[in-house]
Amino acid sequence: MDRAIGDGDHVVNLQRGLEALKQLEVELISLEWSAAFMKIGMTLMSTMGGASGSLFGTLFVSMAKASKDTDLNLANFATIFSQGVESVKQRGKSDIGEKTMLDTLIPVANSLNTDAENNLKLSQALENAKQHAVTGMESTKDLLATKGRASFLGERAIGHIDAGARTSQLMICAIADSLLKA
Ligand code: ADP
Ligand code: MG
Repeated sequence: MDRAIGDGDHVVNLQRGLEALKQLEVELISLEWSAAFMKIGMTLMSTMGGASGSLFGTLFVSMAKASKDTDLNLANFATIFSQGVESVKQRGKSDIGEKTMLDTLIPVANSLNTDAENNLKLSQALENAKQHAVTGMESTKDLLATKGRASFLGERAIGHIDAGARTSQLMICAIADSLLKA
């Protein structure tokens, strides 16, 4: 996924992390949300490698800290996820519009917050989150990269979707679909 505008390891990095999480499935199911997020974050950090390993790891570690002793309803999850995304921004010293995973994550956080404030049903909020993940991911195609390896390419990065934005969108849509089916 990052072959054209990176070093071609993003999917391999992510698969390594997801494989490690799969091994922990039984343990993760037995944990409270906060402890599960912490375990996920620490596991991603220690297994994935790459810029994305530390950033996805940071997302979950920060969500773990924000979700201590909290019920996971839509409003709380919107706050917890936003806290995680905020930490990714700080860790990556980056923001929306720089052709990274944040172009998916930030619109999704905003969408969840708006829908929680408007008391939307969870199913509608999940549909909206999916939509924002897709438009956010697609927005990276026409952007210049100012962070990460793609930034070395200047204008040559234009026309390619960012790898981390794409995998973030795929994961968010998969989680939303699984919740919508539940
Ligand atoms: P590496 O760049 O070290 O090879 P990966 O290929 O696994 O790591 O991940 C690359 C992805 O990480 C990019 O597509 C981008 O979405 C994300 N990324 C890289 N640097 C940053 C940053 N500073 N802020 C946010 N996201 C970043
Ligand atoms: Mg890479």
